[in-house]
Amino acid sequence: MTEARIYDLHTHTFYSDGALAPAELVARAAANGVQVLALTDHDVTDGLPEAQAAAQLAGITLVPGVEISVTWGAQTVHIVGLNIDTANEVLQTGLARLREFREWRAEEIGRRLAKAGIPGAIEGARARAQRGLVSRTHFAQFLVDTGHAADVRSVFKRFLVHGKPGYVPGQWAGLEEAIGWIRAAGGQAVLAHPARYKITATRLKKLLGEFRDAGGAAIEVVSGSHSRDDMFRFAKLASSYGLLASSGSDFHGPQNYYMDLGPLPPLPDGCTPVWETWGVGAPVAGDLSAQTPVVV
Ligand code: AMP
Ligand code: MN
Ligand code: MN
Ligand code: MN
Repeated sequence: MTEARIYDLHTHTFYSDGALAPAELVARAAANGVQVLALTDHDVTDGLPEAQAAAQLAGITLVPGVEISVTWGAQTVHIVGLNIDTANEVLQTGLARLREFREWRAEEIGRRLAKAGIPGAIEGARARAQRGLVSRTHFAQFLVDTGHAADVRSVFKRFLVHGKPGYVPGQWAGLEEAIGWIRAAGGQAVLAHPARYKITATRLKKLLGEFRDAGGAAIEVVSGSHSRDDMFRFAKLASSYGLLASSGSDFHGPQNYYMDLGPLPPLPDGCTPVWETWGVGAPVAGDLSAQTPVVV
């Protein structure tokens, strides 16, 4: 099957922890040659209407998405939902609960950093969260701006991960729960950036098995945070678990720590792209009626 389109199925705006507005993200994607773009903000879908309008103007296809925070054992994992119906109540009720936890967690991070001798972090993070959703990224930016670390990467290591002063354990969605919300909203669940999880090979297999058995559809094989080796490894794992393969930059902004928007490496041979299930004939750019795929 020939597939000439350029897909980027994992990106963020300032509705979560990205730097750009939805219209800016879409413009950058279009300028970089992306033809099918998914906006997948963390735990929120509020940027999608603006992105949809901008995509129509730019003549590219916007896939409505979200990236759901999940607690799996002691691990936080991310599940991307693609082609979700944002009007779905099950999904929106679930996401609202995660944002409530996020809000409490932000205050708790602020309290813990204050105890560690860094006052004003919650105010600093809120000031950087442009649409109200506070992420660790915003705390990281505050800590860098106030001279507590040289860059965002080192700030995570020193302050925001397990065992560090600003770390608060997660109570996000359950794995099955998140997949259930996505499916209730007519979407496909995609395990995001699997190579980023610091787990043993045995635990990874358990995760993939549970993900598939709960109705997960695909894993990100190509990701801005995957090495070439990771891509080939996860291409094989996708095939052996009967999962589809997705591809996304995880773009957060022009000073992205992973990868810019635009052409990503191709999916390795042997993968079935997640978009091959999107009905007969891919959605037509700008044609809103073609945005809801037929999932086979
Ligand atoms: P949160 O969902 O608020 O816990 O924040 C998680 C976000 O922080 C991720 O989506 C990344 O954008 C960012 N992040 C996590 N770990 C790192 C890291 N080591 N370096 C830079 N950014 C990170
Ligand atoms: Mn992020
Ligand atoms: Mn993620
Ligand atoms: Mn992401």
